[in-house]
Amino acid sequence: MNHKYMNLKIGYLYGDLMNIYGDTGNSIALKHRAHARNIDVEVKMITIGSSYKVGDVDMFFFGGGQDESQIAVSRDLIKSKKGELIKEEIEKGIPLLAICGGYQLLGEYYQASRKQEVGSSQDIRLEGVSLFPAYTEAGDTRMIGNIAIESEWDKLIGFENHSGKTYLRPEGKALGTVLKGFGNNGEDGKEGCVYKNAIGCYMHGSLLPKNPQLCDWFIEKTLSIKYNKDIKLEKLNDFFEINARADFLAKIGI
Ligand code: GLN
Repeated sequence: MNHKYMNLKIGYLYGDLMNIYGDTGNSIALKHRAHARNIDVEVKMITIGSSYKVGDVDMFFFGGGQDESQIAVSRDLIKSKKGELIKEEIEKGIPLLAICGGYQLLGEYYQASRKQEVGSSQDIRLEGVSLFPAYTEAGDTRMIGNIAIESEWDKLIGFENHSGKTYLRPEGKALGTVLKGFGNNGEDGKEGCVYKNAIGCYMHGSLLPKNPQLCDWFIEKTLSIKYNKDIKLEKLNDFFEINARADFLAKIGI
């Protein structure tokens, strides 16, 4: 299929404040794999002080960050109503990927501990957008290391580093089951959350370069919704990606 005249607009949510452990690599991977199919890509930064209206972008990406950035971002999501507008788009099926700190802020709330570097002696509850039926509470241990999960998108691999523990509400659908690592909370063996075409998870790494099948799913889904037809991308030569994935899985004993 010729995708020459198609284009993809990615809304990078708070990319200047939330972009830890290579998260920007996700938008680079989307760009790279779309360009390889002749699809144009524009990345629009949506942050504090910038305007956003429904229909501005075709998909969203939201990375992770420290608690301090999360405080400012949580306030802006609520005050500027960006959170409400993003939710409206997700309800219509617009795809979104959120990692770690971004994932936490799209749940109901993140209860940050006073032990974190938040510049306060009080526990702070950061209001979320309630897009994912999940809530997060600060734990006292850091869940850090390589992570692998089994999911609808085959095995997904990444790197996690968080102390927040996320719990899904009974209606919450996990992204997958943990094979190695901690996942949402280190207790129930679940990782991430899927709501419509929105995916939240703890997998930095970056996630999409390490999992090209998921990257292509985002491109296909986004274009299919935008152009209102079923878009199928031609396969790329993923020799290096396939070998890197096999090597990673062997190293962590899977
Ligand atoms: N501050 C959050 C936590 O530790 C998010 C960290 C991150 O995005 N890596 O849980």
